[in-house]
Amino acid sequence: MEILKGVGASKGIAIGRLLFYTASPYKVEKKNVEDTVAEQQRFEEARQKAIDSLNRIYEKALLEIGEEDSLIFQIHAMMLDDLDYVENITGLIANEKVNAEYAVSETAKQFAAMFSSMDDEYMKQRSADVFDVSKSLVRELASIKEQSLDDITGQVIVAADDLMPSETVQLDKSKVLAFVTRSGSKISHSAILARTMGIPAVVGLDNAFDSLTDEGSVIVDGFTGSIYVEPDCETMEQFTQRREEYLLSRKKLLELKDKPSETLDGIKIEINANIGHPSDITLVQENGAEGIGLFRSEFLYMDSDDFPTEDTQFAVYKEILTRMKGQRVIVRTLDLGADKHVPYFNISNEDNPAMGYRAIRICLTRPEIFITQLRALLRASVYGRLAIMVPMVTSLDEVLKTKEIIEAVKAQLKVEGIEYADHFEFGIMIETPAAVMISDILAQHVDFFSIGTNDLTQYTLAVDRMNHTISHLYDPRHLAVLRMMKLTVENGKKHGIWTGICGESAADLELIPTFLAMGVEELSVTPTAVLDVRQKVCETNLNECRADILQRLDSGISR
Ligand code: PEP
Ligand code: MG
Repeated sequence: MEILKGVGASKGIAIGRLLFYTASPYKVEKKNVEDTVAEQQRFEEARQKAIDSLNRIYEKALLEIGEEDSLIFQIHAMMLDDLDYVENITGLIANEKVNAEYAVSETAKQFAAMFSSMDDEYMKQRSADVFDVSKSLVRELASIKEQSLDDITGQVIVAADDLMPSETVQLDKSKVLAFVTRSGSKISHSAILARTMGIPAVVGLDNAFDSLTDEGSVIVDGFTGSIYVEPDCETMEQFTQRREEYLLSRKKLLELKDKPSETLDGIKIEINANIGHPSDITLVQENGAEGIGLFRSEFLYMDSDDFPTEDTQFAVYKEILTRMKGQRVIVRTLDLGADKHVPYFNISNEDNPAMGYRAIRICLTRPEIFITQLRALLRASVYGRLAIMVPMVTSLDEVLKTKEIIEAVKAQLKVEGIEYADHFEFGIMIETPAAVMISDILAQHVDFFSIGTNDLTQYTLAVDRMNHTISHLYDPRHLAVLRMMKLTVENGKKHGIWTGICGESAADLELIPTFLAMGVEELSVTPTAVLDVRQKVCETNLNECRADILQRLDSGISR
């Protein structure tokens, strides 16, 4: 038996035989072309085909793994549309009279080098993306037929030098027990996809990959990143048992799908899901969320070349409310600005965009945009249980102005004879220290608070959430943040309103007893975290730990 060490990229254990998947080798050669216009045309046709293929994969991925993880395919299609990238290729063909395959592969090298040299970790990752999209383009140009992962017979563990996200998402879960790759990292897109799809994976094996053969069986341990080649009987038995235990624990988690979220001592809490797109609802329902605690409505604006019309928005809100069949759907109004921009808003560059012109600040100064969204929301309100939530609030004035606009929209709709629900909840996000400190006043004017810990952490600690250099200082468990949250809940309770959490912290299992002890009544998390959170709630005995937790928060020991 040989033990190989890689990086555990997706949890789970698989035992089986290996199937080597090799993208057909293709070496790009430099060739001279005379008719550069025809060559540019050939490139253009291949580019369109590659974009179409990525869009098809995106649509498939949307249904299987949801909006967030499918975005990579949209980003790849957008890269193929990037003017600098395209012009670099057509320029090389025209100026150096070279074939399109060569022009693409040279451009890929130049762009990848540029991304790799950047300080920002996120931009560094883009260099792998440029290679991925360029590889698809070259294969389209050279009409290379790939070995299809669809043709797998029986159940196998796929071994490959690397898997592109487009290849990973096409893996058939019923046949692929796991995958192992020579390259890749924990945060590569394929690893992220494997986690969403629930396929165990070990990546980054480097030279150890050469020790793998398709003879005999292997054990893949996605927890530790170990691979056992031709395991002995004892190891085989041990891992068979561990795999069974793990599968049983996943099954038990699924049993919680329709169970109430209630602590051992009977405290009920609502566990909702955060979504960014209507297609995420499939995952929301598969994971037994009780409603939608945050619908980030920005995608309507970010996926569009111009302001989305009232009818476009109405159709989306109506679809979500209808599909959620009377469960509460909290739609957050437009939260653009800071790190989220769309060109047609024409927002000028700011030195400090996180503290700049964003969210409710845009809505209140450009009421025509706000009114369009509110009209669409109110029209859709008759199709389910709508709640409207406003982001980035810092003052009572913003809340009162928003309520005035909502009343004006209602009056307009009434005059036009358009129906809207008699009652819907109106809440605000608590994501600035200002909102926390006046939460006693704000609570008298709204139906609920939802704490946005992502922004509340950034503003409380003065740590830009996008700045990787100081990411070690970004700590949602910081005592200052926890005390901000506690004060918010207390002020909400004093005035009879409920408080939830929709930032990433809501899924921090270690903090859940703390949130419950504070009196938080709702947690909204990414759909795939709903069951883990429910399990944690169901295991907690608040009577046993409440006093201790509150005492720790008061005395300054946060955990
Ligand atoms: C938050 O700030 O916690 C939040 C949920 O909003 P977003 O992450 O979209 O800014
Ligand atoms: Mg926020």
